[in-house]
Amino acid sequence: MSTFKAPKGTYDLLPPDSAAFLAVREAIAAPLRNSGYGYIETPGFENVELFARGVGESTDIVTKEMYTLTTKGGDNLALRPEGTASVLRAALEANLHKAGNLPVKLWYSGSYYRYERPQKGRYRHFSQVGAEAIGTEDPALDAELIILADQAYRSLGLRNFRILLNSLGDKECRPVYREALQGFLRDLDLDEDTRRRAEINPLRVLDDKRAEVQKQLVGAPMLRDYLCDACKAYHEEVRELLTAAGVAFEDDEKLVRGLDYYTRTTFEFVHDGLGSQSAVGGGGRYDGLSEMIGGPALPSVGWALGVDRTVLALEAEGVDLRLPATTDVFAVPLGEEARRTLFGVVTELRRAGVATDFSYGGKGVKAAMKAANRSGARFALVLGERDLAEGVVQLKDMASGEQEAIPLAEAVAVVRGRVG
Ligand code: AMP
Repeated sequence: MSTFKAPKGTYDLLPPDSAAFLAVREAIAAPLRNSGYGYIETPGFENVELFARGVGESTDIVTKEMYTLTTKGGDNLALRPEGTASVLRAALEANLHKAGNLPVKLWYSGSYYRYERPQKGRYRHFSQVGAEAIGTEDPALDAELIILADQAYRSLGLRNFRILLNSLGDKECRPVYREALQGFLRDLDLDEDTRRRAEINPLRVLDDKRAEVQKQLVGAPMLRDYLCDACKAYHEEVRELLTAAGVAFEDDEKLVRGLDYYTRTTFEFVHDGLGSQSAVGGGGRYDGLSEMIGGPALPSVGWALGVDRTVLALEAEGVDLRLPATTDVFAVPLGEEARRTLFGVVTELRRAGVATDFSYGGKGVKAAMKAANRSGARFALVLGERDLAEGVVQLKDMASGEQEAIPLAEAVAVVRGRVG
């Protein structure tokens, strides 16, 4: 063992478990690719100001959890804690919104970094697949994204998740509500930190997990009663479209989420088998974010689904992704000349699209067959000196143990036919 370990709050993805992560990323991306979303990739770090302004100065993500650094050139950068601000920054920088084709629909997949207190399901480096639809206000777009996330989870075989839905209002009605809530909170017996939060972002106090705080919040003004007619109608339309699509959801008027930029529709996907870190994904509408980072008004909506937690949720439900064995054929040469010849066959098989591996390191037949077994291959292709002299190679069915000699010159065609 080396003296080095993965940093606290991180872990390595190793085979065979890593295959599940790839499968989850693929499954989340598939419905997006199928619905007009184009792939975007942005840098792993950004100017720290982007997140401070975009995600919000009052959020835990910005105040406590960002990995920041100053470069030798004096730039203040942060490892990205989330995807939306970067994607919007990139879209604005490239003027994608001016190409006359709104909404700009983008999807992404990558690593994110938050200096959090590590626990199961909560890491300092984690992986998300996300989607953003930029530049259009249309309840069907909000519904589309929720439906696609639902479809992605279901395609993986996930069942025990719930969709929580809320509306946070817009720049007309939210300030009125904010003030009413602040008035209510000022009269409560709250600690210093929570008082400060109540002044900067009172909605987040509603999200406080502590029982003594929740007890005092009984009777707090609720946003639902303050939504303006436009927000109410918009929200109702999103709900109706989801219902028509057969996607079940629960209204959760306390769902405010930890990022400042959300307006109107917000939602979270929670899984009941995950304990305290139950959110597997979340998102919402962020109509004001573009202007907050210096762009034009661009009403937008998006989500990010956590890959790590989706894998944990699949485990919790006992879902077997039934990943196919990666190797179809394992080639075992016995002797120097056989090694050279068989390596050539392996190369040809691979070029023909057959997943093939080879016994390296001059192993004896016993060790090599063990390796063939471990690879999960359906067939072993064994070439000994006598086979070579006779111009044949042995094709062994690993499940039945049956073995037959096939002409070496036709090995690629025969094997291809068998695995196809
Ligand atoms: P958020 O940007 O906080 O809404 O996160 C979206 C999703 O990313 C969450 O629902 C989680 O699945 C995942 N996620 C966020 N933070 C972490 C973390 N520290 N560790 C693992 N997954 C996370």
